[in-house]
Amino acid sequence: MCICLDNVYLIIELEGKAMDIDETKIYDFEKDFAREAVEVLQNLIRINTSNPPGNEIKAAEWIHSFLSREGIESEIIESAPTRGNVIARLEGKDKSAPSLLLLSHLDVVPSQNLDEWQVPPFSGELKDGFIWGRGAVDMKGATAAQLITFVRLHRENIKPKGDIIFAATADEECGGHFGPGWLLEHKFELIKADNVVTEGGGQLLPMKTKYPHYVIQISEKGIFWTRLRTRGRAGHGSMPGPSKEMAIVKMMKVIDKIAHYTPPIIIQDLFKETIKAMDLPYAPLTRRIFTSKRFIKFGVWLAKKIIDEEIENLIYPLVQNKITPTVIHAGEKENNIPGLCEAILDVRMLPGFDRADLNKELRKILGKKLFEEVELEPIIDQPGGLTPTNTQFYQKIEQTIGELDPGAKLVPILSPGSTDMLHFRRKGIQAYGFVPMKIDELSAKELASMVHGYNERLSVSNLMFATRFFYELCLKY
Ligand SMILES: [Zn+2]
Repeated sequence: MCICLDNVYLIIELEGKAMDIDETKIYDFEKDFAREAVEVLQNLIRINTSNPPGNEIKAAEWIHSFLSREGIESEIIESAPTRGNVIARLEGKDKSAPSLLLLSHLDVVPSQNLDEWQVPPFSGELKDGFIWGRGAVDMKGATAAQLITFVRLHRENIKPKGDIIFAATADEECGGHFGPGWLLEHKFELIKADNVVTEGGGQLLPMKTKYPHYVIQISEKGIFWTRLRTRGRAGHGSMPGPSKEMAIVKMMKVIDKIAHYTPPIIIQDLFKETIKAMDLPYAPLTRRIFTSKRFIKFGVWLAKKIIDEEIENLIYPLVQNKITPTVIHAGEKENNIPGLCEAILDVRMLPGFDRADLNKELRKILGKKLFEEVELEPIIDQPGGLTPTNTQFYQKIEQTIGELDPGAKLVPILSPGSTDMLHFRRKGIQAYGFVPMKIDELSAKELASMVHGYNERLSVSNLMFATRFFYELCLKY
């Protein structure tokens, strides 16, 4: 069943007032605005930008022509063949005023399990009040919201104080090296800004509190992917010799030790800030439990019983460095004992930790003898970053969401995964992850599972909520 967009918008407009809907109070322009945002998102979903290979150029060209029709100049930048980025700028009144970058990525993760999808992943179908398809939430929905905001500011001839920049970029799902990573190195003047707002936060916490609470991502863990190699006696499988000399067996010992290791609990200031801002029931007792190294395990156990079994998988990555084996390779032939075994560790460390800390930890986990038998090769060293909360821009985000959802408060969080913000934070640029989203017909759990999973979809009301947020935020800028 398709639902009428006009009605959807009316419902959004009058949210919280479950009563007669007076259509005369809605401006026609607002209605077109919803229809346009949906159409933009549908069009973007229909352009397959699965990364790898990305092929974002088609989406960048689509946006470029959309902006051209509005009389807005934009620039397409190809960081490598087919890796398209598109950037446009709305000049502010005051060159010295801080600039704002509305940032999104055009690539999406590949779609597996096609049988599990209720509609094909690149259909962009509007069904049951949702726009369906790969990238609807991560993050073409935000691209549509930011693009419509940008175009609307231009149509209304609104001159912000500082420049407002729109950028939809390539390659976020594989590290952003052909997107912001490349642009900040080669086109710095074009993409630099004082503040950046992009994905990573914005979800409404499903808690019963006096005021609604939305998470905002201000920090990310560092990435330290590591290749491990063990070597051993190669030979014929029929005459194996002592198993302890085999590369595979040595690697098994290494993986086993890592799997059975419990990393220490590290409660950083940001985690305390997160817990404080969450306004937990029975504070200050619950606050003390969750910010104490001794009691946090009890707190997580309790939360598992009361809220959800999965909660420990959300909390522990925020207070522990995580070392996870993700790849292993050895041998090719049934009767050959390989002399080499390789494995890869996905290592995520809290801000402030580096490669030397990781080596120390691995030595502790493996013990001196085994540690010396393993060759370690860094693949990526990307320390975690943090943008503080005591900035004017953070206040503007809180003020804007507090107006759209009365009294709403922000909960600053660390993200265990990473986004393009790491490239900006490394350059000292303030970046916040905030694309506001209410829990509508979907539970928080469903939302989390469909990003990078299947049946990804965004409700029209959430698309419009984000669009209104970005528009109001820009008006305040
Ligand atoms: Zn994303």
